[in-house]
Amino acid sequence: MDYPGNLFVVAAPSGAGKSSLCKALLELDSRLQPSVSHTTRPPRGQEKHGREYFFVSQSEFDAMVAADAFVEWAHVHANRYGTSKKAIEDRMAMGADVILEIDFQGAVQIKNVFANAICIFILPPSWEELRSRLERRGEDSPEIIDMRMKNAQLEVAQVAEFDFVIINELFDRALFDLKTIVHSQRLKISAQRRARAETFKALNIL
Ligand code: 5GP
Repeated sequence: MDYPGNLFVVAAPSGAGKSSLCKALLELDSRLQPSVSHTTRPPRGQEKHGREYFFVSQSEFDAMVAADAFVEWAHVHANRYGTSKKAIEDRMAMGADVILEIDFQGAVQIKNVFANAICIFILPPSWEELRSRLERRGEDSPEIIDMRMKNAQLEVAQVAEFDFVIINELFDRALFDLKTIVHSQRLKISAQRRARAETFKALNIL
């Protein structure tokens, strides 16, 4: 289905800066809307149902899988996470651009449903820098950091499946790169045809 809105999918190993970059972009760009995923993990800290995630039970998640309600879903760090098809379709049909911040397994599945999705992978500048960011974040034990580093090696091996790569060495530069990708995508003929169908029609362009 060709919706007027665009779908951006951002994936990265834990600690590469995905959440901070997406948050900064969302603050700057009012045409972009985040998608709120469903998860079986319990809320952390100040997280609110319907804001960071829809926090659901295992059986609620199972029911959504059975009803084919997810565009993609995956096991990530012992919990399940899924993106609801309807939430994305409703927003894109209204002309909004949607940004998904998901793990790499989900990103790879998205194109099976949304062939026009733009998949962006964020890399750290080096393994040393990734480890020191995870350590500075202070959220995880050394064992969990080791696990995240191991997972990161598997994740970056998937980079060729993505359309764009950003190396997040300097935050401002990486944010500029992300804004540039979003803006260029909006100017593609195929995207303009979808977003500005009326203008194309008025100009008699088929
Ligand atoms: P956290 O529990 O730290 O919020 O997220 C853990 C990981 O799950 C992150 O990499 C996050 O991007 C990913 N994630 C969040 N929502 C989804 C989703 O709907 N689908 C998939 N595949 N991954 C998700």
